[in-house]
Amino acid sequence: MARRKLIAGNWKMNMTAAAGAKLIQDIRAQFECGCKGCANGPEVLVCPPFTTIAAVIEAAKGCCLNVGAQNIHWAEKGAFTGEISGDMLNELGVSYVIIGHSERRQYFGETDQTVNQRVQAALAHNLKVIICVGESLEQRTAGVTNAIIEGQVSKALEGITAEQMANIVIAYEPIWAIGTGQVATEEQAEDVHKAIRALLKKLYSAAVADATRILYGGSMNEKNAAGLLAQPDIDGGLIGGASLKPEAFATIIKAALKA
Ligand code: PEP
Repeated sequence: MARRKLIAGNWKMNMTAAAGAKLIQDIRAQFECGCKGCANGPEVLVCPPFTTIAAVIEAAKGCCLNVGAQNIHWAEKGAFTGEISGDMLNELGVSYVIIGHSERRQYFGETDQTVNQRVQAALAHNLKVIICVGESLEQRTAGVTNAIIEGQVSKALEGITAEQMANIVIAYEPIWAIGTGQVATEEQAEDVHKAIRALLKKLYSAAVADATRILYGGSMNEKNAAGLLAQPDIDGGLIGGASLKPEAFATIIKAALKA
């Protein structure tokens, strides 16, 4: 089955509303059609900070760019200072949410259990989910990468049905590659993607494993994207730094179009 590639920008805590709207205009200007791609090209997504989302949705009007959020809380509402609910994201009009990014796990106490709770909440609010998993350098050096990744994926997917998997994307993001400029080799990335797909087959079925998109994230840029995206099990990228640069992001989208 041919999986449509997904190129997703994680803006992290960058871009005010005005700067985000300008970035969208600059990305659109990189394409002749005034858009970021075509219906038969890769799906493209940007995930700005919450306060920038409305301006980005406005700037993306008339273009097939998707807009997502970087987190969601599992409760409907209540005393959860600093968090955001599914209803709030639905009201904004986002279509995706990133869950379990290593920066959330590392700095904000995110665990496999809270990742699973957030995934359940996102699906209940009809949002598509990008679940991030990744090993540390110590874990890679110790030779336990696949065990760590398989544990994170299994726990994130607890209670998620085969039907719900249609709205799930997995992003493999080795922690040592995020924001460091030290990208995983094509072979290292492909090996882990293959292991994740084998796990999905075990947890669900060959059909689910075949249909689920698995993104690579970690210092993907305009120079290394084509090689990574050419790997059979790499279905796109989750991109931090390079997604803030219109030419670089457009080059990655164009690489996905050819892959
Ligand atoms: C990320 O934040 O998900 C990421 C992959 O960042 P970068 O591309 O900057 O390494």
